[in-house]
Amino acid sequence: MSTLTRHILDQSGSGVAISVTEMRFGSGPQVVYCQAALHADECPPLLVARQLCQHLAVLEAQQRLHAEFRIVTQANPIGGQQWVRQHHVGRVELGTGQNFNRDFPQLAALVIEELGPRLTSDPQANRAMARELWHEALAGLISENPVMALQRVLLDLALDADWVFDLHSDDEAECHLYAAPSDLAVALSLGGRLGASAVLIESDTGAHSFDDTLMQFWETLETAFPRRGFQAPLTAMTVELRGTRDVSMAQAHSDCEALLGLWSEHGLVTSDSGQLLSEPVAYPLRGLDVLTTPYCGLVVWHRALGDWVTAGDLVAEIVEPDQPERDPRQIRARSEGRLLARRGHPWVRAGDVVCKVAGSKPLSWRFGNLIGGRQ
Ligand SMILES: [Zn+2]
Repeated sequence: MSTLTRHILDQSGSGVAISVTEMRFGSGPQVVYCQAALHADECPPLLVARQLCQHLAVLEAQQRLHAEFRIVTQANPIGGQQWVRQHHVGRVELGTGQNFNRDFPQLAALVIEELGPRLTSDPQANRAMARELWHEALAGLISENPVMALQRVLLDLALDADWVFDLHSDDEAECHLYAAPSDLAVALSLGGRLGASAVLIESDTGAHSFDDTLMQFWETLETAFPRRGFQAPLTAMTVELRGTRDVSMAQAHSDCEALLGLWSEHGLVTSDSGQLLSEPVAYPLRGLDVLTTPYCGLVVWHRALGDWVTAGDLVAEIVEPDQPERDPRQIRARSEGRLLARRGHPWVRAGDVVCKVAGSKPLSWRFGNLIGGRQ
């Protein structure tokens, strides 16, 4: 029987209660966690999550669920209510400017301290103990601001999971995914069902994003305690469901089918949903060039999403309205690859991300935090 829980955030504010809504379906030895729109203005996941809940309710009634499913239908209710002069702002918290999907609390070191003396020869028991200590560490954390309060709730719901799907969208984009090398096969399978063109691979983006935080926790434990059951107990990925404006019932239905198809492939549900719609290509995240503009002005595109570009190709021009006698500035590709994402709004200022080009060769200037712009 499905359950609906509203997890109230501490730090909601005086006289205000903000809650994260979670639906649970089914039961079984594995936990599947799926959340929508941690960046609150990335809208397509909201419809997918809603439709997923409807599908899962039907499958549950038919006793075709073989795992516990936790669906967070709106992962960021704080960002969902941020408006500035009639413009929605969902990517960063207005009070601090903090990106909602960065700097999640890293608690592996705390857990390792407590876990060492309690380890057994049973890998399953060790994992259960690690999760229990992780829950405790999170509970002991003081939320210093509303973003941290939100991050605590989301991590607490996801850390039991064997599967995590963090649903986002880019500005204007083809469908693509971010995953660790160990999850490449699953990401390619899901990507093919979604009609994605690319899977971006990196073991650590350096951003302490949501899925990174979960994956890094287990990796840190595996390094500290090899062969004790901490090697890859989690499959996690970030899914970019095209552009923020790509919202339609038909697309959401197709994306639900893709997720259900993947879950069926792994015995988590019984469903004949989904088929392969594409053959995505795996690219190293270090091969993804994020082009920014050094100029302020109007973006005029010369290349379309999905185009293959080589270094030096003209991708866009920036028309400067205060320089009517000067030729437009040119934005040229710096590397070979596929034009995966573009800025949606045509007015830019210096430093804004203009587009992303996914290539197969790691780029020397890509280091440190590897996820910029939308993700
Ligand atoms: Zn995002």
